[in-house]
Amino acid sequence: MNHGVRAARLYASVKPVDLPSNLQVKPNRLACGTTGRLVAATGAMFHTNKTEAPTDWLDVQESRTQAHSQSADEVPPGPNKWDGAGRDVRSEKDYFPSGITFKESSRTAVRLLAENHNLKAVALLRRVDETFVSAYATGRFKSVRLRIPVDAQDARLLAAWRQNQSLIVHDDSAESDGEAAAMLFPLVVGDEIKGALLVGDAPLDETTHRALSDYAREIALPLEMVSLREELEQRARVASHLQTLTERINSVGPEGAYATILHHSAELLHAERVSLLMFDETSNQLAMKAAVGPHAEAMREVRVGLDDGVAGRVLRGGRPLVVSDMEMDGHQLASPERRYKTNSFISYPLSARGRHIGILNVTDKLSGGAYDEFDLRLLEMFVPQITLALELAEWHQKAAEYQLLAITDPITGLLNRRYLEERIGEEIDRSKRHKYAMSFIMIDIDDFKLYNDRNGHQAGDVALELTAQCLKTALRSEDTAVRYGGEEFSVLLPQTGLDEARVIAERIRLCVEQTLYPHGKTQPTGAVTISVGLSTLNEALDTPASIISAADHALYQAKSHGKNCIAVHTTPAPPPS
Ligand code: GH3
Ligand code: MG
Ligand code: MG
Repeated sequence: MNHGVRAARLYASVKPVDLPSNLQVKPNRLACGTTGRLVAATGAMFHTNKTEAPTDWLDVQESRTQAHSQSADEVPPGPNKWDGAGRDVRSEKDYFPSGITFKESSRTAVRLLAENHNLKAVALLRRVDETFVSAYATGRFKSVRLRIPVDAQDARLLAAWRQNQSLIVHDDSAESDGEAAAMLFPLVVGDEIKGALLVGDAPLDETTHRALSDYAREIALPLEMVSLREELEQRARVASHLQTLTERINSVGPEGAYATILHHSAELLHAERVSLLMFDETSNQLAMKAAVGPHAEAMREVRVGLDDGVAGRVLRGGRPLVVSDMEMDGHQLASPERRYKTNSFISYPLSARGRHIGILNVTDKLSGGAYDEFDLRLLEMFVPQITLALELAEWHQKAAEYQLLAITDPITGLLNRRYLEERIGEEIDRSKRHKYAMSFIMIDIDDFKLYNDRNGHQAGDVALELTAQCLKTALRSEDTAVRYGGEEFSVLLPQTGLDEARVIAERIRLCVEQTLYPHGKTQPTGAVTISVGLSTLNEALDTPASIISAADHALYQAKSHGKNCIAVHTTPAPPPS
């Protein structure tokens, strides 16, 4: 895919050399479809005194290595040894002080090189698995996505390095119409390709070429050390995040789990905005589950189909997407209302055992910089834990939903008697322990059979809902209202004495009396009303059964006093049946 971005590909037409058969390039390695053979650093371009292409590459390779080691002996090691032009060049220790990141090191190294040799286009490529990724680039390499279609394990890279040579690559990012060459100087540590310097200022004179080749040799190890240190630090950060993530998720419940995951992902990737879209199998859509950062609230309602947008494609494709620059990578820019600060993001598909879970989106790096493959690798270390945490959260949430279903009354949405029976025992214990008061209310709708008979069962259900609504409005957040059964409700009032309970009960009674029920006028008093019985925790009433029974008894008294009133339990309650 081009996306308007031109790729650098292996140059195929300058003085091909006969490679030994084991080093022949297989056509499928040439990602951009180059035909013909690779030029494995003939040297002709740079070593003007050696215009003849060698016939046996391996022989030449050995002889040059020897030649180089001899010349290397002549030049004392240390700073400036590679600077054939005699310019003032600092040693690697100066470019990579301790604590510097790989990105910063790359920038320093590239800038220094460009300045010292008046180079217009230089890129430092870092190896990521089998490919090269630009870590820092100048000139025309800056504005294109560099694609180096040579496999990092390609033997020609190492061979070129051994010969102090570079690989010539075709560079179609050059502005000139004709084909331009760029040179790839491998960065090698211990016989392993770690990266490469790509220089677009061809042709180079021999001295400069030699200087660049030496420079690549000189910075390879320090760069690798920076890279290793960075990786170690990142692993340590990931490990510590993983530990706190697990601890926090265990202590915060499912809703808290989502926020915790986002918080840790944001910190790990220095992201200002992170969001989590969860896959909903029923609607086949991705729905925003949680988001952190500016404008997170506005994202709450976001839902995307699997056929729309980047998130849908990423989930379907099952592969993470890193976009350093949406424009450069041919992505449609997000609408301005979203107010993204950068054009760079990572979209990571989360799945477990072949099941789609969702998408984690990370964007707006705090530094304003772009995300790249290295950030992706960091996230990758974290993803198994995120997935596990999400699965657990989902499971907990389902369990909580089922549990809630079992204790919720479907008509009124109030908790049911089963819940009350568990809860009242706990509340009594707590009140006894801390010597708190506790009161209990039992409510029954007056003449409700009549209401049903006159207006139908459905109208009766609506009346039950309206009554529950009155309870919700009249109560405080710490009170618990339940539908006790039929047209009976009860309320648990923690830390509440009898006087306060009476006030609350009156508030409920008044609310019902004053609420316009659709068929209220059909009731004997011209309105739907309730009777209320009250009991409170004391030495004689200190068990769930006795308190409930006492309130029930008081309710009976309220009925016998003419209904639509409150009665307080005063006489000892009859023993519970
Ligand atoms: P009282 O004033 O003495 O409480 O008289 P009442 O008619 O309210 O008492 P009774 O116990 O005789 O009738 C309760 C009625 O509540 C019976 C039933 O039709 C109605 N009921 C119970 N549960 C439901 C329900 O879930 N939906 C509806 N619509 N009605 C219900
Ligand atoms: Mg009743
Ligand atoms: Mg009744």
